[in-house]
Amino acid sequence: MKHQLSLKNFVLCMTLALASIIFTGQSVLAQVNIVTSVTDYAAIAKEIGGDRVEVTSLAKGYQDPHFVDAKPIFITRLNKADMLIYNGLDLEIGWLPILITGARNSDIASPSAIGHYNASVSIKDFLDVHTTPIDRSMGDIHPGGNPHFMLNPGNGIPVARGIAARLIRIDPENAAFYEDNFKNFVSALKLKISEWETELAPFKGTEVVTYHKLWSYFLDWAGFKNAGTIEPKPGIPPSPSHTADLMRNMERDNVRLIMAANYYPTKTASIIARKTGATFLSLPVMIEGRDGIDSYIELFDALVGEITSALKNTKSSNQNAAEFNGG
Ligand SMILES: [Zn+2]
Repeated sequence: MKHQLSLKNFVLCMTLALASIIFTGQSVLAQVNIVTSVTDYAAIAKEIGGDRVEVTSLAKGYQDPHFVDAKPIFITRLNKADMLIYNGLDLEIGWLPILITGARNSDIASPSAIGHYNASVSIKDFLDVHTTPIDRSMGDIHPGGNPHFMLNPGNGIPVARGIAARLIRIDPENAAFYEDNFKNFVSALKLKISEWETELAPFKGTEVVTYHKLWSYFLDWAGFKNAGTIEPKPGIPPSPSHTADLMRNMERDNVRLIMAANYYPTKTASIIARKTGATFLSLPVMIEGRDGIDSYIELFDALVGEITSALKNTKSSNQNAAEFNGG
C-alpha cells in the first residue's frame, strides 16, 4: 500500500516536473507579438524575428493602404501587441491613429514607446516634399513627402535595421539572433538590388504614366521619368478632360508604359493603353499583393521582371516598326 502510494506520488511528481518543463519551455519561447499596418513590414519583421516573433499585418497586401476599414478586431490585436510597425508620413492617417487610441496599449501608443516604430523615421530622403502651403484643392497630398518609400528596395535596408534595433531592445536575450537575421536579410537584398539594377539599366530614361503618385521612389531608383498620372490629383479619380490631355501628351512623347497598383480600378488605364498603344501593367506594390509574393525580394523580382519584359516587347515592336518604315 505504502509502496503504491509512493509510486503514485512519483508519477505525480514526474507529471508536475514535465508540466513545468513544458511551461518553462514555453516561457523561454515567448514570442514578441508584432502588429504591422501593412504587409511589407510584417514580412521583414518575420525575416528578422524568425520564430521569436508572432507577426500580424492589419491591412492585406492587395488593399489600398490609404483606405483600410478600421475593424474592431484590429483594436484587439493592437491591445495585445508588444510592438507596432507602420509606414508613417501620413500613409495610414485615415485609419491607424483611431485604432491606436482605441487599443489603450502604452507599449505601442506613444511615438516614444520602444514598441512604437514608425518606419519613415529610418528614411533619409523623401521625394515629393511640399515646401509650399497645401490645401485640400490639391488633392490627398502628404505634406511631409511621398509615403511610398518602400518601393525603392534600398529603403528596405534602413527599415530592416530599425526593426532589428527595436527587437533587440524589446527582447535583448535574442539580440544575436536578430542581428544575424538582419545581416542575412541585408546581404541577400543587396545582391538582388545589384541584379535588378543591371536588368533595369538598358531602360534608363523610360517615360512612364502611373495611376497614383505611388511610384516616385521606384521611378527614381530605376532611372525612369514620370510622364503624368491618371489621377488628376492624388486621391482624385480620373476625369475625361484630364484623361484627354494625358493621352495627347503620351502620344506626343511616345510614352509606352502605364503602371498602376493592382488595387486601383483598371478601366481608364486600359482605355488609355488601347488608344495610345502603350502597355498597361497592373502590378502588386506590397508583399502578398499577389499570390506567390511572400517576401520583399519576391516583390521586386516580380516588379522588375514584369516591367523589363514589357519594355523589351515595346522596344522590339518599336524597332520592328522602325525597320519596316526604314525598309
Ligand atoms: Zn499615396
